[in-house]
Amino acid sequence: MPNRPQPHFPEPDTQHYWEGVKAGELRYQTCDDCHKVNFYPTAHCQSCGSDRLTWNVSKGEGVIYTYSVVRQNRIPGFVEMGAYATAYVDLDEDFRMLTNIVGVAYPTKDITIGQRVRVEYEKQDSGEYPIPVFRPV
Ligand SMILES: [Zn+2]
Repeated sequence: MPNRPQPHFPEPDTQHYWEGVKAGELRYQTCDDCHKVNFYPTAHCQSCGSDRLTWNVSKGEGVIYTYSVVRQNRIPGFVEMGAYATAYVDLDEDFRMLTNIVGVAYPTKDITIGQRVRVEYEKQDSGEYPIPVFRPV
């Protein structure tokens, strides 16, 4: 099982996000004042500074905006992964997140920009919080 670093709490901006991941939900915020999506989670809207933010649950589907294949990573928790794809995924709810693409045999050949993907939650040996990753659909 993967062994990625875990979030450290207390972390007021992202704790609700991580509790969502643990419950199988990809949570994001929208601003009650300017109505823009706010992701990654913060205490204040990254567009207008308002503290009136509402949590929502994404369907977890989107497209690959761009990606890169990491062929070797010596950081503990990544050493054993072999070649893997790091990607920006544009969710259908209009936010972009940095993530990994999984479930492809050859990351340099089997991933394309614009490809549809869906979130899944990768359990970790390192702790109770899974990591949200995306798989082509
Ligand atoms: Zn705002």
